[in-house]
Amino acid sequence: LTGWLEWGRVSVTGQGFKASLYHPDLGNEVVEGTLFVDHYRLRFRSESLSEEIPAERLAVTHDEDGERIRFEDSARPGLEIVTFDAAVLEHCALPQLERARAELSELAGRRELWRRLRLTGYFLAGCVLVVWLFTWVTGAMVRSLANAVPPEWEQSYGASCLKELQGEGRPDTYSNQVAALAALAVPLLGPVPLGNTTAKFYIVEDPMPNAFALPGGYVVVNTGLLDMSERPEELLGVLAHELAHVTQKHHARKIIDASGPLLVFGLFLHSRSGLLNVLTEGSGLMMIQGFSKELETEADETGWRYLVAANIDPRGMVSMFRKLEESEGQKGRRQVPEAFASHPALQKRIARLESKWKKLPHKDGFLALTNPVPTVRAPRAGGTTRAP
Ligand SMILES: [Zn+2]
Repeated sequence: LTGWLEWGRVSVTGQGFKASLYHPDLGNEVVEGTLFVDHYRLRFRSESLSEEIPAERLAVTHDEDGERIRFEDSARPGLEIVTFDAAVLEHCALPQLERARAELSELAGRRELWRRLRLTGYFLAGCVLVVWLFTWVTGAMVRSLANAVPPEWEQSYGASCLKELQGEGRPDTYSNQVAALAALAVPLLGPVPLGNTTAKFYIVEDPMPNAFALPGGYVVVNTGLLDMSERPEELLGVLAHELAHVTQKHHARKIIDASGPLLVFGLFLHSRSGLLNVLTEGSGLMMIQGFSKELETEADETGWRYLVAANIDPRGMVSMFRKLEESEGQKGRRQVPEAFASHPALQKRIARLESKWKKLPHKDGFLALTNPVPTVRAPRAGGTTRAP
């Protein structure tokens, strides 16, 4: 190699830094050695060779992440001495070294900033994860507690709500239609896991197209909903949704959930004996408000599953949603059943069900339903009693 000095002719003093030397003449060989810098030159020495670059020809660069510091000789392209030891830059006051040191310190500042931003990002993601986990765990606990609610409580709670709704000892004037409704629901009930509970149907006179369910298997249908249903599949779509509220214990879940996470954890971890108290205290709330968006969506999905399992065309549910959406638009006020109460918006729910239809593997061969939708259109003579 031209310009290489024999080791021994160069006197090397001062602190050395571990470095590697590359040169085209060496091929792929990398020479490991030690680097020395003073005010006049940079020197490299190894067992087999030594090299020097005068200060005026010395160029100092570094790679993107600032770890490798590269020294080159402007007069001899291809020669490259590399070190990972940044302390070499602080060793002496050559302007090239100072420039590189300034660049590296700026780079380190930027990296520190990024590091902090990254840490902040991790922290926020961690918070989101914790909240999500907390919600998930609480949800699972609420579900487990709701499953522990005794069927007797569901029965008596459902019955007392119904009594309150019927009010004033009003006689059941729709016994024929109720029987027809129960007969119509028979094909649906097969896959609905009601356990020891049986589905009990009621009709109340109310023009609002509404239906709701109560714990204990009570399903209440307004005359307005019967009027709106043209096909049995449509009515069964709503019934499937309502029965899903019952099987998924939505009433108990809602009441338990409303008692707050602290109580939920307490009930779950220590004693379930307080469960009935929570249910009794919270039961007033059930009749005032509907279910959350999550529970409504769950009832849609579960109800859809029941329809499909019963081999009933589930598009009836979608068709009913559409009618209700239309009726909501026409009346310009909340004229929709509990099953469709505002959140999530009907359109979203329709879209979700339509995508379920698209994914359904079997789209024909559904049951031919022969039972007609019960009709109650004939106005009754005398004063009418209004159901709430
Ligand atoms: Zn609902």
